[in-house]
Amino acid sequence: MTQPTPALSVVIPLYNEQDNVESLQKQLHSALSGLNYEIVFVDDGSKDATAQRVEKRPDVVLLEFEKNAGQSAAMYAGIHAARGEVIALLDGDLQNDPADIPLLLAEIDKGADLVCGYRAKRKDTVVKRITSRVANFVRSRFTKDGVRDTGCTLKAMRRECRAALVPFYGMHRFIPALVKGMGYKIVEIPVNHRPRTAGVSKYGLGNRAIKATVDMFGVRWLLSRQVKYKVK
Ligand code: UDP
Ligand code: MG
Repeated sequence: MTQPTPALSVVIPLYNEQDNVESLQKQLHSALSGLNYEIVFVDDGSKDATAQRVEKRPDVVLLEFEKNAGQSAAMYAGIHAARGEVIALLDGDLQNDPADIPLLLAEIDKGADLVCGYRAKRKDTVVKRITSRVANFVRSRFTKDGVRDTGCTLKAMRRECRAALVPFYGMHRFIPALVKGMGYKIVEIPVNHRPRTAGVSKYGLGNRAIKATVDMFGVRWLLSRQVKYKVK
């Protein structure tokens, strides 16, 4: 059955999040009650029961990758499957709080094109907090995205902003840079952050720092050649 076009699509990448997905879905439905929304889950080739544990409801879309393709691929696919006028992005491990989504939407109503959450009180290990702080500092200066915490997935954007996104491994760290580069207005707000209580983080120092640094150079070139247009 084709559902009417939702006002909001919430896109969530999931990789081996079987013990988070049920509670996440409950929290989403209660945080978004009264809104016209769909949830787009992208199962990024999970090897556990993540996909089976997604409750299939008319307001839920589940994309299932054949095999693990990475968080950027999952988010890109979900963003392009989304039908809502506004697209919200959220991690699937319950570290982001669905209750923050209405706060992001309020900023869009006030005129922002992309709203980025920043984690005022991080609930991660010391190593992760320090590496993330360094990465955010370097990246925001290098790409001039003007955002203090791109590592925070929790964001909302008008659907047209997705035209700025280019699919490459690592893209999810440069969404503000790419969207801002196309001339869109970005706003930041503090959001809640919670410790991961089930499943494991998919990133460590080794698989994040070097790749993200190389990507920065690529993004800087891309920004220097990015097409800029707005439809009247
Ligand atoms: N994720 C994904 N594919 C991957 C790695 C991660 O879809 O290859 C998802 C993961 O399930 C989670 C989000 O991306 O919903 C962020 O991952 P994680 O929590 O491991 O990152 P961290 O919070 O440790 O930076
Ligand atoms: Mg996490």
